[in-house]
Amino acid sequence: MAARAVEQRLNADHSDYTGPTRPCPCGQPARYAGRRAKRIQSVLGDLTLERAYYHCAACQTGFYPRDQHLGLVGSSLSPAVTRMVGLVGALLSFAEGSELMRELAGVPVDAKHVERTAEALGREIAEDERRVLEPEPPPVPTMYLGMDGTGVPLRASELEGRAGKQPDGSAKTREVKLVTVWTAEARDDAGTPVRDPGSVTYSAAIESAASRDTDAHPSEFAQRVDREARRRGFDHASRRVVLGDGAPWIWNLADEQCPGATQIVDLYHAKQHLSDVAKAIYGPSSDLATQWAKQRHDELDDGKLDAMRHALRVHAEANDEARKCLDYVTRNQRRMRYPHFRAQGLAVSSGVVEAGCKVAIGTRLKRAGMHWTLAGANTIIALRCCKLSGRFEDFWERRSAGAR
Ligand SMILES: [Zn+2]
Repeated sequence: MAARAVEQRLNADHSDYTGPTRPCPCGQPARYAGRRAKRIQSVLGDLTLERAYYHCAACQTGFYPRDQHLGLVGSSLSPAVTRMVGLVGALLSFAEGSELMRELAGVPVDAKHVERTAEALGREIAEDERRVLEPEPPPVPTMYLGMDGTGVPLRASELEGRAGKQPDGSAKTREVKLVTVWTAEARDDAGTPVRDPGSVTYSAAIESAASRDTDAHPSEFAQRVDREARRRGFDHASRRVVLGDGAPWIWNLADEQCPGATQIVDLYHAKQHLSDVAKAIYGPSSDLATQWAKQRHDELDDGKLDAMRHALRVHAEANDEARKCLDYVTRNQRRMRYPHFRAQGLAVSSGVVEAGCKVAIGTRLKRAGMHWTLAGANTIIALRCCKLSGRFEDFWERRSAGAR
């Protein structure tokens, strides 16, 4: 009944007829060619809308002014249903999303349609993210920016010819690169900085972070980091901290995009690294491994990097992992001065970077049986980052303003 009422009201309104001709985007006049019906799925049920149709003989295309006004161009879903689909597509698999739409809203949209709509929306959001940059002032004096990468499984056809870590040298995944910005003014009982709830934003994509000196533009990911930093006011914070694991691309980017920021190897990553070395030396389930790792972790916490490097050097010749870790510590020792950073009240291991990959990417894109296309993965990553960063509402406001 509600659907019929809306339908009748919209169909009785002929204000979308504005005369026998109307300018076509090509510049020529388009002629009115009667009212035509289209079936729309709305949250109230299906609607059959009759809209004025204008056709341009010069460019052989036609358009419906009302579709543009209502945001129905190229879609049989109403904007509210599209928004629901965007939400479920950001959070759940397409099949689960379809089921939730049916269960909670009584709106049947099959899984394939959820997928197409969510991906189209993700493309719009990715485009919107590149275009709209409204810098905020830094909310607090100290801001953190983290970067990390995580592999997402792609379809075999998307990976042809790419080198990877499989035994035969092929690849199963591509790396999503993630930038996260947050603040940590809050303190726990021990006085350790903890992430401020609601302060985290994410931006990510499968894209290159490598740029050569000869390149005219920074890499795509470098530009993403720059946009996110500017959007959050990171550039204007009086203290700026870049956190990451030890990967060289992260620090290259930090040097380029955030000169002068304090660089810290995420303590969580560093400890993880040492635990892996302990297992490589003593075996995965040995008490010696646990003990050895504990000693190294304590040395890290206490800033005894020389003692730690000594302990690694003892095993470096016989053990490849130990040798690599020794290189890692040597390369990053400036970024591992944890007592020094703590004394300044800085967060050294927020877990935000690590959790970011899991929360923003893993829980949606790395589930069993999922194999993405490159383009599909990037649209859903854009959609999800938008939602998790609290930017979904702003996007919809811009989108409906654009339609009007
Ligand atoms: Zn035309």
